[in-house]
Formats: sequence, C-alpha cells, structure tokens
Amino acid sequence: MWQSIFGKSQEDEKMDSPNLQLDPFLFEQVDKASHIVALTGAGISAESGIPTFRGEEGLWKIMRPEELANFDAFMENPDRVSEWYEHRREIIDNVEPNPGHKALASMQEEFDYVTIITQNVDGLHQRAGSENVIELHGNIYRNYCVDCKKRYDYNNLRPSEGAPICDECGGYIRPDVVWFGESLPMAAVNEAEQHAASADVMFSIGTSGVVYPAAGLPRMAKSHDAYLVEINPEHTDISLIADETIRMKSGIALPELLNQYHSWKYS
Ligand code: NAD
Ligand code: ZN
Repeated sequence: MWQSIFGKSQEDEKMDSPNLQLDPFLFEQVDKASHIVALTGAGISAESGIPTFRGEEGLWKIMRPEELANFDAFMENPDRVSEWYEHRREIIDNVEPNPGHKALASMQEEFDYVTIITQNVDGLHQRAGSENVIELHGNIYRNYCVDCKKRYDYNNLRPSEGAPICDECGGYIRPDVVWFGESLPMAAVNEAEQHAASADVMFSIGTSGVVYPAAGLPRMAKSHDAYLVEINPEHTDISLIADETIRMKSGIALPELLNQYHSWKYS
C-alpha cells in the first residue's frame, strides 16, 4: 500500500530491473534438454494489463471470483456472470502479448521441443505466435450452450444485453472455461501430465501453484528428474522445490534469459 502511494520500493526496482545475472548451469540444462516445458499462470499476462487472481495486485483483493466463476452462480444470475466475462473479454481484446509471451514463442521456434501448458484463458500465447498450447482451464473466447452443448465462437454469438441464448434450444450460453468445482478437460490434463513427466527442463511461470491439478505438474516434472525453474516475483509453494528461482517479472526475465543464453552459446 505504502509503495503505491510513495512510488516504487527497492524491491519493485529489483523486479523491474533487467540487471539479472543467470547461472550458466541453467544454460547448460536448456542446451542439452530435448524437451522443455513451460507451465504458465495468470502472472505471465499481468504485464499485458490483465489482472491476476492472486498475488499482490490480484483481482481477488477487489472481488471474489469464486462468487462468479461457478455454475450455480451462473444459473442463479446468468446476466451478471455473463457481464463479468464480457468485461474480462473487453480487457483482453484491448491488450497485447508482452515480451514474456513473445520470448516463449521464440523459444518454440529456436528449440526443437518446447511445450506450453497454460492455466490462462486469454489466448495471449497464441496471439504471440505460439502453437500447440495446452489450455488446462479452457478459453474465454469459446462458449457453449449449457443444455444442448452446441459450441459458439465469440464471433458467432449474437450481441445480447445479458446472457446469450442458444439458437438451437433456448438454453443459456456459457464461456468454455473451467469454473470452481468443475473438472478440467481430461484430454488436456493427460497431455499435460505426459509432457511434465518427460520434461528435461520445466519453467513454472507466473503461477501461484495452489490450483490443482496444474500445481501438481512442476512436482511431477521434478519427480521425473526435470530441472525446475520458477519465474515469479513472489514466493510460492513451488519455490520450495524449484532448483532455481528467478524473482522477477516474466516479461523481463524471459527475454533476458534468452539473450544471456545466446551470449553464452555463441560467444
Ligand atoms: P494466480 O492469480 O493464482 O497467481 C498469479 C501468480 O503470478 C502469483 O504468484 C504472482 O506472484 C505471479 N505474478 C504476478 N505478476 C507477475 C509477473 N509480472 N511475472 C511473473 N509472475 C507474476 O494465477 P494462477 O496460478 O494462474 O491461478 C489460477 C487461475 O486463475 C487459473 O484458473 C486461471 O484460469 C485464472 N486466471 C486467468 C487469467 C488469464 O487468463 N490471464 C487471469 C486471472 C486468473
Ligand atoms: Zn442449446
């Protein structure tokens, strides 16, 4: 609180500073890896201007998504929940992928086998040029009817005042995101677990590591001997098991990591 009134604290300056000296041991691990996995959470999109749920500036400090992001809340008040999602889509529509998303997309081009597993629903990895992104919690631009399950892209939803209505059966149309109390898409979870188990290096980026099963993936990678690197300005439960923690914003840390890797490799 004080720091937002009086400007940046020393800690903030450190987070923003590109003055990061990485251990060449990390570059060796990246260099010899045949499979690199990046697990991302809301933190990677924070620098694009999308609020996180947790963390110092998280959305939960202002309102409680549990009260909105669940099926009962939607059925009780579909208009209110739909408006909240419309608001979140508007935020996402008006932001751009940041240097963190772009650095991961460059890594996918440069290295043979880089998998991105995300808990985000914002599609910013894809907009940054990443392919084959495993979306564990769905995507806010996809929608489906709660009754007949007909699928709707954002673009083929008819503009509506409140909750959109299915043109096949008259049911409410909801966003294709995983709400509290719902299961994750099984295929995505299975795929993510296979990748985590075969990763040589795993980056855990901008995730608080409290939402399961996603939070189990770094642990799974580690138990299969992956080198685990966390990128997060704040301490999390994953910090406790990480081989290396970069306490910095991902939009600064990831491009810098690539730069330093290139200097190490080619000079
Ligand atoms: P979270 O909100 O629980 O935690 C965010 C983490 O990011 C915190 O640990 C915070 O310290 C860290 N962080 C903040 N700024 C950062 C930065 N610049 N660089 C790196 N790290 C930063 O996020 P989560 O773990 O992804 O939790 C889960 C749920 O929130 C998911 O289900 C996800 O679907 C949903 N969510 C998604 C979005 C999105 O799509 N952009 C936004 C908010 C929430
Ligand atoms: Zn329907």
